[in-house]
Amino acid sequence: MKICYTCEYCGQPIDTIEVDELDEVKFGFDCLTQVERQDIIKFIPESNEMHVQSLCDDCMAAIGGQEEDTIVYGPRFLH
Ligand SMILES: [Zn+2]
Repeated sequence: MKICYTCEYCGQPIDTIEVDELDEVKFGFDCLTQVERQDIIKFIPESNEMHVQSLCDDCMAAIGGQEEDTIVYGPRFLH
């Protein structure tokens, strides 16, 4: 089966991986709650594909940068 990663932020396809067998632990899916799974993983039986919502490098950098700013500048507002 195929696992297709799509950026949930900008909608760009990120990566497609071909696997014989789905190893949930390897992909980190076992860490997700049932709700998270339903939210980010969609299985398409017709094409035997699994679509996973993720973040591309650009969006990861953009979002990661914001979070870093919050961490760096956040405590200043306390004083
Ligand atoms: Zn993106």
